[in-house]
Amino acid sequence: MIPLSFTHVIVGGGLSGSLALIELLRKYTAPISIAVLEESPHRLFKGKAYSADVSVQVLNVPADHMSAYWDQPLHLVQWLEARGLNYGASDFIPRQLYGSYLAETVHEALGTHPQHRVQFFMERLEAIQPDGHNGYALRSAKHDFTAQHVWIATGNFSPADLVSDTEVVQHPNYLGDPWRGAGLRFIPNGASILLVGTGLTMVDQVLSLQAQGHHGAIYALSRRGFYPQPHQSSPAYSWFADYAGIPTNPLSLLQLVRSEVQRAAELGIPWTSVVNDLRTYTPMLWQQWDLSQRQQFLRHVRPYWEVHRHRLPADSIAALNNLEQRGQLMRFAARLENVAATEKGFCVRFVPRGARSAQTLDVNWILNCTGPQSLGKKLNEPWIQSGIANDLLKSDALQLGIELGTKANNRLHLIGPPRKGSSWESTALREIRQQVKEEVAKI
Ligand SMILES: Cc1cc2nc3c(=O)[nH]c(=O)nc-3n(C[C@H](O)[C@H](O)[C@H](O)COP(=O)(O)OP(=O)(O)OC[C@H]3O[C@@H](n4cnc5c(N)ncnc54)[C@H](O)[C@@H]3O)c2cc1C
Repeated sequence: MIPLSFTHVIVGGGLSGSLALIELLRKYTAPISIAVLEESPHRLFKGKAYSADVSVQVLNVPADHMSAYWDQPLHLVQWLEARGLNYGASDFIPRQLYGSYLAETVHEALGTHPQHRVQFFMERLEAIQPDGHNGYALRSAKHDFTAQHVWIATGNFSPADLVSDTEVVQHPNYLGDPWRGAGLRFIPNGASILLVGTGLTMVDQVLSLQAQGHHGAIYALSRRGFYPQPHQSSPAYSWFADYAGIPTNPLSLLQLVRSEVQRAAELGIPWTSVVNDLRTYTPMLWQQWDLSQRQQFLRHVRPYWEVHRHRLPADSIAALNNLEQRGQLMRFAARLENVAATEKGFCVRFVPRGARSAQTLDVNWILNCTGPQSLGKKLNEPWIQSGIANDLLKSDALQLGIELGTKANNRLHLIGPPRKGSSWESTALREIRQQVKEEVAKI
């Protein structure tokens, strides 16, 4: 097969791939060629998070922080205004609408830069290797490609299975990845459901169930049973710069944050402002820590960090509290011990936090809301295997993501969630936009 030749090939057409495409179109004045490979046509320009087909799922970040352009912070707000949509800068817009914004913004950028040749291939990357000319050779099931630059923008991996029992994980009532397919729609309104995980994914799923008229019992279980904290008005508060040069470990950092929260409270500043400032320094702190400190963070600090850093619109939390008060939603802080398939669904055994003995619960459906998996089992994906075999890619020591291998040069660009192992914060728009900006500036 004669390879198709491009200046840039972007693998993954979600948020990261779309931002890379927009920045590349803007960067070059002389014509270039770009190919985008996306395995799921309905996700093109939207990815997993923004191809939602229900409007109750909203962004977790207000509109004035979600512009596709790093140098036009109010681009989304203006887009909403121009369409007469009744959302302001501080509103949490539906993710479905944000997907439309991304798709329109890409089309607009394509129209503004007609000198470039851009082709979209609804195909899955299967292999990658050096092409012997400082660039890369890629393969999908239908085409061979060569590219001077390759952008790996393949997003999050699916959640890890809750148990290894194939009778459970292949059961039609076990939804192993809530972002895949239209699973929720098949759940009868009166069915009992266990959601494992009590973070952002779980909240989304509960709100979607509520919107489709679900009246059956909903159970939510996670080790600590924490919900994400609600957003609140958070003025800018700069404090960490004074400590940035001082070595920390995860536990000393936690203490530092606690005492700063107290200090800020005395000034009438909410804790959210303290956490917001720290976010800018998170990749730097992560990179300073050695492997055992990173493990310490994951084991002891992460559960607290997740619920304070990844916050939700207050309305979403209020809706959950309301469901709890009505008795429809029940939350457990517990360790899942076992799941067995039964005639009507599943029998779940779990040990409540602080208890010695296990309890059981019978449910009709299970939704795995534990969030994206670490790379772990996914290492056997063909394109990752070929990248590793060719020393272009390697897994980071904690298998949180992918790093560049010894044969990769500065024309292989890794953006978004796969970079989690080296940056930790690598999934939200703010970090991805910054990564794209920095990578494009290096070209
Ligand atoms: C439910 C949810 C809500 C979120 N809300 C917010 C928010 O409010 N604000 C915020 O800043 N962030 C939010 N995020 C985080 C963030 O925006 C996402 O993680 C982000 O969408 C990541 O984009 P991505 O393009 O890297 O990954 P994805 O969106 O997963 O896109 C990757 C794409 O690559 C494709 N792909 C994968 N492998 C291959 C292959 N081998 N060949 C071809 N194509 C491939 C996939 O089909 C997919 O379309 C949210 C995330 C989720 C899941």
